[in-house]
Amino acid sequence: MNDQIVQQKHPKGLWVLFGTEMWERFNFYGMRTLLSLFLAHSLLMGKSEASIIYGGFLGLGYLTPMLGGYLSDKFLGNRNCILIGGTTMGIGQLLLFWSASQAHTPAGIATGTAIMWGALLAIILGNGFFKPNISSMVGSLYPKEQKSKLDSAFTIFYLGINVGATLGQFICPFFGDVEQNGVRDLSAFKWGFLAAALAMFVGTLTFLFLKNKYVITPEGTPIGGRPNKADMPADESDSAKFTTANILISFAVLIVLTYGFHLVLGGIGVSFIKAWLYPFILASGISLGFLIMSDKTITKIERDRIWVLYIVCFFVMFFWGAFEQAGSSLTFIADNQTDTNILGWKMPPSMVQNFNGIFVVIFAIPFSILWVWMNKKKFEPISPVKQAWGLLLIALGYWIIATQVKGLGISGKVGIIWLIILYLLHTWGELCLSPIGLSLVAKLAPKRFASLLMGVWFLGNAGGYVLTGVLGALLPPTTEAYVSMEKQNIDLKKVLDGDKEPSGSELYSLAKEKIATTIDYEKAMKNNIDFVNILNNPDSVLTAPQLDLIEKEKLVKVGYPVFFGFKLKNLYDFFMLFVVLCGLAGLLLYGLTPMMKKMMHGIR
Ligand code: GLN
Repeated sequence: MNDQIVQQKHPKGLWVLFGTEMWERFNFYGMRTLLSLFLAHSLLMGKSEASIIYGGFLGLGYLTPMLGGYLSDKFLGNRNCILIGGTTMGIGQLLLFWSASQAHTPAGIATGTAIMWGALLAIILGNGFFKPNISSMVGSLYPKEQKSKLDSAFTIFYLGINVGATLGQFICPFFGDVEQNGVRDLSAFKWGFLAAALAMFVGTLTFLFLKNKYVITPEGTPIGGRPNKADMPADESDSAKFTTANILISFAVLIVLTYGFHLVLGGIGVSFIKAWLYPFILASGISLGFLIMSDKTITKIERDRIWVLYIVCFFVMFFWGAFEQAGSSLTFIADNQTDTNILGWKMPPSMVQNFNGIFVVIFAIPFSILWVWMNKKKFEPISPVKQAWGLLLIALGYWIIATQVKGLGISGKVGIIWLIILYLLHTWGELCLSPIGLSLVAKLAPKRFASLLMGVWFLGNAGGYVLTGVLGALLPPTTEAYVSMEKQNIDLKKVLDGDKEPSGSELYSLAKEKIATTIDYEKAMKNNIDFVNILNNPDSVLTAPQLDLIEKEKLVKVGYPVFFGFKLKNLYDFFMLFVVLCGLAGLLLYGLTPMMKKMMHGIR
């Protein structure tokens, strides 16, 4: 009798991990709501530059878990990594607090920017230590005979993630994204970052004090301690062994691919992140995949299954690329072209993305009940089919809002309800795709490649964030750009449509406000105009001959963002880009599923 009750209950350790992850996600997502706005408004970066940094930040945040997982397995153990990661992230948030305390005045922008880079680096590293270890500890809580409880454990854990995200995305904007007399108060951002820092320290302390009492096996031995030689697989075939030649070839692939992607994505005057970091992230995923496949011990069935994983990872990239616009372009749209009034209360723009977290909390359990019900009725689809649905749902979300902004013009505002509907559909898509992804990896991966293939999955996510950055940077100018240019007597629409040749000083104004411009930094340098310096210095003034040079030498070009030859002129075009990309990806994945089903050899 007692035994039965014990079996149905989850170990208390799950609630400790739930609480720790909840505070950590509070800190991560709370900060994230403010990041793009802080970069754009306080540090005076253009929206596309902010999007590129945001994508690079998230992408690296999902590359470092490879390192954190490795160090944990080899030397440190889960517990130490969680404590190190939590503390490092907390310090990163305090650095952001410091950065924001400097950057709200023009004089502090340079210092604030420098501190901001350090802060993001700390958060990236901290996340690398924290994220893979807390997730794998959830699995370790359950002895072999209780593995059937894992699905429900991960659902609870995913809920914890989103309860935290929801709280953070409410509290941090509440203190950090505020207006004084209708104008954004830049000095408030710091309070949002401080709230995030405190949350991270609360989470780390929760874990520090409760781990010994609750995160233990039924026999009472601690889970997630330092790795012990005795626990290592005795049988050599349990661990992957790569030949030196294969490792060297994979390195070569990494270097060649990084350079190849650089040629595609990079170009003169493009920031380091887009020119080198993005290519490196994309190339890492492929070369790691290459390394795993080069192992001679892989059987035919294993090879098929690994291929299924790679195919899924490829398509999932498009999902995250579209989904994570929440923190960049969709927040800029909420900021500049949305009426965020709800029953008379003006919601801070950065809080709008919170509807995702709220909807996950509402729908996570109904969705897991739905899968169980479908399973009982014998029509539960295989995971890749669900993931294709996820892609189609996100395409639908963008399509619905696209129809709403179609007639909006450059000054109209879209009602917040349409963003809420978009987040509802995106969340349903997420629930079809994200929790399932982790367990699919666990099921498809041969045991000896389990952590490496989990790494491939995370790298697929990271690749998705590269897309987030690249696509988010294509956001066409929104209302406030037209308004601010009008104040300077520049008809932005005419300029963009090519109906008016802008003068040197007009080009300078556009570049200064980072509106729809590309700058030829190198050519400018050859003409003794140091654009990097000029744009980072709010008080810079150019001489008349310099302005003439800008016009004559075409140092600054103005135009709509272009994607593979298509001009994105307005929000409708921008949203349709995601409809087309995710819609095509979803249909293609769906079409491939019969073949993938065979390649999965019995795994669903
Ligand atoms: N929102 C989830 C989390 O924070 C999933 C994010 C992801 O896998 N890219 O863990």
